Amino acid sequence: MATVFLVTLYEYSPLFSIGAVSLCFIITAAILLGRFGFHVPAILHSSDEPESITPTPEKHMVQVTNPFALDLGSGPANVIDGVSLKPCCLDSCVLSCFWGCEVIALQRALQTHQHNLKLCSPQHFLQALQHHYHYCQTFQICEDHREEVRTRIPDEHHITDFGPLPRDRYPLVAVLTLAKEEARNIYNIVANVTVIHVPDDKYNLSARILFQYLLTSQRTMFELKPLFMSAGAEDTSPPPDPELVSRPSSLEENPEVAGDEWDEWSERSSRDCVICQNAAVNRVLLPCRHACVCDHCVTHFQHCPICRAFVLESFVLDRPAEP
Ligand SMILES: [Zn+2]
Ligand SMILES: [Zn+2]
Repeated sequence: MATVFLVTLYEYSPLFSIGAVSLCFIITAAILLGRFGFHVPAILHSSDEPESITPTPEKHMVQVTNPFALDLGSGPANVIDGVSLKPCCLDSCVLSCFWGCEVIALQRALQTHQHNLKLCSPQHFLQALQHHYHYCQTFQICEDHREEVRTRIPDEHHITDFGPLPRDRYPLVAVLTLAKEEARNIYNIVANVTVIHVPDDKYNLSARILFQYLLTSQRTMFELKPLFMSAGAEDTSPPPDPELVSRPSSLEENPEVAGDEWDEWSERSSRDCVICQNAAVNRVLLPCRHACVCDHCVTHFQHCPICRAFVLESFVLDRPAEP
């Protein structure tokens, strides 16, 4: 059949026929060479084949218990009406809301924590910020507190905005510290500093958390960053706080920390690997922070299957217990 076709083709166009036969020969030879172990730098190799992949380095992680979580609550959020905050703590806490906190003052306070005074109580923050804020409101948050708290600047301060851009003040800095002296020795993390944007007349970008920092009892500071979970079938909302904390790169080592609320979330939601759909998601890809693949599939990819970003490192979410 093929012979008849080639003969007919040869009669019509000898040059094309010779070309077609040569091409078939080259492709067959390349496939055979590839099979016997010779490296064929041709289109015949798929870029996602395991042998062409160098394994992504695994990042060393340290697991710690973060007693603090803070999120924005419901209801209107602006400078006039105030903003609702949803604290959730493992121990009794104090929530201090610093409205109109100077950017420089906060940076200086965070540096103070790393060099001089350990910021582990509301008084320490008051001292470190040295009145470089418009107004401070504090709330006592007990262990089982689940309601939202509402903070706003009283009318007598006559503050309706924080001036034109660029600004030298953050609208709101919410600080969580442990209320009990003895609890400060139990947890590694002594304070949570959340910088929040609150809209006003001059800048109406919707309210959002800009940064979250965790201060440790060893005088270091982590920036808290969310993980992006591949949504399960029945639960499409992100997990409450599977937070990733990374130490600023200027500091030594670089251990990172994952929050322990992850366990709770992982139990109640479907979390199949987006590649094999067979094993549980157990790897977070860096730098994009997508948690979407299992331990096996992570070795097959150099690009994130969700966003296609190049994967520099990955870390394990849940390491099996040592025997
Ligand atoms: Zn998989
Ligand atoms: Zn990604």
